[in-house]
Amino acid sequence: MYYTKDTVLFLNGNWIKASEAGISLFSQTLHYGNGVFEGLRSYDTQAGPQIFKAVEHFQRLHHSAQRMHIKLPYSPEEFTEIAYDLLKRNNLRNAYIRPLVFMGANMSLTLTDDIHILMTAWEWDKYFSKDQLKVMVSSYQRPNPKSFPVDAKVTGQYTNSILATTEAKNNGFDEALLLDMKGYVAEGPGANFFFEKNEKLYTPPMGNILPGITRATVMEYANELGCSVIEKHFEPEELIEADTAFFTGTASEIAGIKSIGGHNFKMNWEDTVAYSIFLMYRQRVTHSQYNDFTLV
Ligand code: PMP
Repeated sequence: MYYTKDTVLFLNGNWIKASEAGISLFSQTLHYGNGVFEGLRSYDTQAGPQIFKAVEHFQRLHHSAQRMHIKLPYSPEEFTEIAYDLLKRNNLRNAYIRPLVFMGANMSLTLTDDIHILMTAWEWDKYFSKDQLKVMVSSYQRPNPKSFPVDAKVTGQYTNSILATTEAKNNGFDEALLLDMKGYVAEGPGANFFFEKNEKLYTPPMGNILPGITRATVMEYANELGCSVIEKHFEPEELIEADTAFFTGTASEIAGIKSIGGHNFKMNWEDTVAYSIFLMYRQRVTHSQYNDFTLV
């Protein structure tokens, strides 16, 4: 699914066949999860494939790398150029792009200068196959920000996400919602969380979440619509009074939530402000409003 015999990827400055990419089995990333990555989407538009907020994503890659003391050899603009080149070489238009910074052989728990850059892309349909998700509050918490830079997209951190998703699926839910160490709602395994009440949006503040680019985009669009967005801590019990809720993320885009822990939200998804923002998002990433894209 992620590559065919013709797929070309970017590895350490070279363009090679995905099927021929060898990596060290002593990679520190493979053993200990010390690596950083990003996830971007490109959309087919009349002006050709456009990567949504590419520079912002590569700036966040730089931020993640800096938090883990990893030095990157390319600027966000150079990464963006490589990403467009990658799409062209693989003739991809609607695609998910995965840059990964991984470390070479080092079995010690120390830094290494052996830094590798991979960028690959594939066609990836909507992350969630359903429009309206059944969500459970996870028994797993997000990592304590004092143990870990939660604002960085670090590979090892996703073991927490995999555990939460597995628990949710094993219990008959579509997705998990994780709390922070104080019991406040934090985010999904790979997406930020919002709820809507009386035409206002609420979302957890920075501190225990990944600063999502889709989250920031939703806040911009809400502002344009004159809808207030309140960043605050809240417990899952407060969601009982909510009209609706949704996840935001590059892979999942804007995904409506039908219920949390078996409790259905009051409003029809299509009647909410969140749904208008969802429509704006779809229209802007796929159609004519190019000024919202990062053009290179
Ligand atoms: N939180 C986590 C833990 C994530 O992995 C992601 C996906 N990158 C998000 C939030 C959403 O971020 P974005 O909108 O930038 O994709």
